[in-house]
Amino acid sequence: MAFSDTFLDELAARCDIYEIVSRYVTLKKSGSNWFGLCPFHTEKTGSFSVNTEKQIYHCFGCGAGGSVYNFIMQIENLTFPEAVEFLANLAGVPLPAQDAGVSDNRKRLLELNRDAARFFYQTLSSPEGRVGYEYLLGRGLKPGTIKRYGLGFAPDSWDSLLNAMTEKGYTKSELRELGLIKPNQRGGFYDQFRNRVMFPIIDIRGNVIAFGGRVMDDSKPKYLNSPETKLFSKSRNLFSLNFAKKSASRRLILAEGYMDVIALNQAGFTEAVASLGTALTQEQAKLMKRFADEVVISYDADNAGQNAAARAAEILKPADLKVRILKIPGAKDPDEFIREHGREAFSALLERSEDHMEFTLERIRNNFDLTTDEGRVGFLKEAAKALARLSSPIEREIYASRAAESGNVGKDALLSEIERNRRAYLRRVKNEETRRLLSPEKSVQPVSRALRYEDVRTARAEEGIIALLSREPAFAQTLQAAGIGPEDFTSPFLKKICAFLLEQAQAGNSVSSGALSQFLAPEEMSELGRILSAPDMGDHQSAGRDYIRIIQETQAKHAVASGEDPLLAMRDLHKEKKSYGGSLS
Ligand SMILES: [Zn+2]
Repeated sequence: MAFSDTFLDELAARCDIYEIVSRYVTLKKSGSNWFGLCPFHTEKTGSFSVNTEKQIYHCFGCGAGGSVYNFIMQIENLTFPEAVEFLANLAGVPLPAQDAGVSDNRKRLLELNRDAARFFYQTLSSPEGRVGYEYLLGRGLKPGTIKRYGLGFAPDSWDSLLNAMTEKGYTKSELRELGLIKPNQRGGFYDQFRNRVMFPIIDIRGNVIAFGGRVMDDSKPKYLNSPETKLFSKSRNLFSLNFAKKSASRRLILAEGYMDVIALNQAGFTEAVASLGTALTQEQAKLMKRFADEVVISYDADNAGQNAAARAAEILKPADLKVRILKIPGAKDPDEFIREHGREAFSALLERSEDHMEFTLERIRNNFDLTTDEGRVGFLKEAAKALARLSSPIEREIYASRAAESGNVGKDALLSEIERNRRAYLRRVKNEETRRLLSPEKSVQPVSRALRYEDVRTARAEEGIIALLSREPAFAQTLQAAGIGPEDFTSPFLKKICAFLLEQAQAGNSVSSGALSQFLAPEEMSELGRILSAPDMGDHQSAGRDYIRIIQETQAKHAVASGEDPLLAMRDLHKEKKSYGGSLS
């Protein structure tokens, strides 16, 4: 399903990129662009730019970029048609009748996942699923909770789901695309999830996007999750966020696994979420920031759990979240604690939970023997390093007092050690960012591996031509006169953009980044954002001549490589191009 270019252009015109981005990012004017802190990677200096004239955004740090549609796709985690729908709602513009709804393939896959969830759920209450149901009850879940989460059971069979879904009219390739079945060695397929209790993973819009399946004994793997699919990115979703997002407290509890989250939810802590079988990611931290200002990490009490908590805290802090870490006395996890001591006791525990810095200082303290001078020095040096990362001087002062007390030194001595460390820390952060920005590899090659240039020099000339075409559509005639067309480009995706721009120029249309968003993949749009964000060096005529010359030289070189006489090749090239250019005009 496609939208018309006219509709996309009109909608983009009503959704000014500055207005839309400002809803998520604080922008400040600098030169002809707006700059802010990138919402897609963690940084201290704003390398995220918005150009209102071209209606594009581009991050010089991580390479994110594109039109207003790409921005919404990226920040709201939507497909292109969903982003169009989102912006149309925002602008109060009705979608053209044939454009309504999300793309057909995606819709069908979502239905398949929903039907699979229904199949697992129904199996759980059948004789076949009895063993799963008993298991969940044995873990302390109430029937109402099982229903609320739509928990299910995958039978101990090779083809139950496969048969049930193909009977409903779904194809094997659709089932395979969602990771529900896998190919066997005889050319057939078998169910991926077998003899497991099933946890549907539901996004914030209520779609079933994936599954987690847990064994009921000690066999491995304990959890099996859906692979990355068109519907599911595990680094960009959180389990139970569909419930937690409704919590009014602006606080989330980050638990270690599905069972912990469900137990917390059953006890009334609906703000509990978990990552999906992998370590917490920056994207998940950003996602949490949309619904919360504070995160309480409630991982297992054992060493592995506490180490994971420390790592999660390091990911959450830069997303501007207040982080606290829960210590569960006398129990291995929150589930066990609540079952033994009840909801009120856990609530009190939450209120008392240590903030991240206390937790860190205690961990450092445990590594040193504070009864010796050597141990105290070691502790104070490590503590100063950790405290140097706090951005608030008030917080630095307060924690410095506590650490100084433990280490038995004056606070001022520790504070000056912290300041020294902080200057070094800030220098390091800044250097890292600058290095990333200036890295030659980064500045000449697309971020996405699939788009990498084979011939960087020629591709740069092709980029230059695209930038010129978007600034001056009349440059299309110069290109034509030189006999250069998209077919001469070495980079496939630059070729595609060039063909589109020339087509628009020929039809007398102005070039719109909105219509291009439908035509190009998001990573291609990001690269276009980068190309169009390059500063305009002026003197378009001579720049254009240089670009054309480079492309012609490359063609001559290729002719040599294929065994033609270089001089003849060069001469033929010019002849051919001239006649080609002439016949077109
Ligand atoms: Zn970025």
